[in-house]
Amino acid sequence: METNQNRSRDPAEREPTHAVSYEGVSKQFGDGDETVVALEDIDLDINSQEFVSIVGPSGCGKSTLLNIVAGLHEPTTGSVEFAGTDITETDLTGEIGFIFQSPVLLDWRTVEKNVLLPAEIMLKNGDIGEDMDYYRERTEELISLVGLDGFGDSYPRELSGGMQQRVSICQSLVYNPSILLMDEPFGALDALTKDKLNIELLDIWRRTEKTILFVTHDLDEAVFLSDRVVVLSERPGRIQDVIDVDLERPRNEETKQTEQYHELVNDVYQYFR
Ligand code: ADP
Ligand code: MG
Repeated sequence: METNQNRSRDPAEREPTHAVSYEGVSKQFGDGDETVVALEDIDLDINSQEFVSIVGPSGCGKSTLLNIVAGLHEPTTGSVEFAGTDITETDLTGEIGFIFQSPVLLDWRTVEKNVLLPAEIMLKNGDIGEDMDYYRERTEELISLVGLDGFGDSYPRELSGGMQQRVSICQSLVYNPSILLMDEPFGALDALTKDKLNIELLDIWRRTEKTILFVTHDLDEAVFLSDRVVVLSERPGRIQDVIDVDLERPRNEETKQTEQYHELVNDVYQYFR
């Protein structure tokens, strides 16, 4: 009986929907002599609530891969689906959080007001539901989630680089997107701060159940954080390998002492020797 029921169900119900699906994606910039092919033949499915990192040499198209999902660039060939719908046919405002290497904070607004800013704009445009009180409360919760209790009234200049990047994480979470696109978010931080933020990010990811697409040139960081690491080739970026990282979670500093971790990092490194 059970088997029959399963078989009769709509395939769409059985298959988990991918958060993001790249199908045959290539991206070319410019034309004629000025042509740059940034990406070629990208086929990649990212599961809902998965943590996937993209690594590859500088200029191989990592940022382009994220920017396409964010709708900043259109693929030259192929298509990208977001939760099963072609991204060119749907409005993704409010669905995507983007975090860059340099926090984009306004000097003249407090931490709290910076976190609220995207929600303010989206509310004005009618892109998101709820009201300002809801987002004010959410801002407070997020500031606490990233360990910035008591800094709500501070200004960005009063914070360290690591603290500023925590504020950008709050900013991207305030309107509750389902996916976070992170483009070398900790690339400008010192090693110790970066390690600390990596562990915090995993905790935030676990608690908020987001899908994360994370670009880094730090191979150790990619292994430590991810469920899978996607290795791109030199430009034009093609997928060379997708490495499953089956390290136990939750992960912490001890994870980095395990043989399994070192083997996985080595598996990724071999593409860059
Ligand atoms: P990565 O993030 O891996 O360093 P990018 O995705 O930023 O690489 O860029 C890939 C290639 O595409 C680079 O050669 C870059 O110069 C080119 N490129 C990226 N964005 C543009 C653009 N808007 N116009 C023209 N060329 C671009
Ligand atoms: Mg880049």
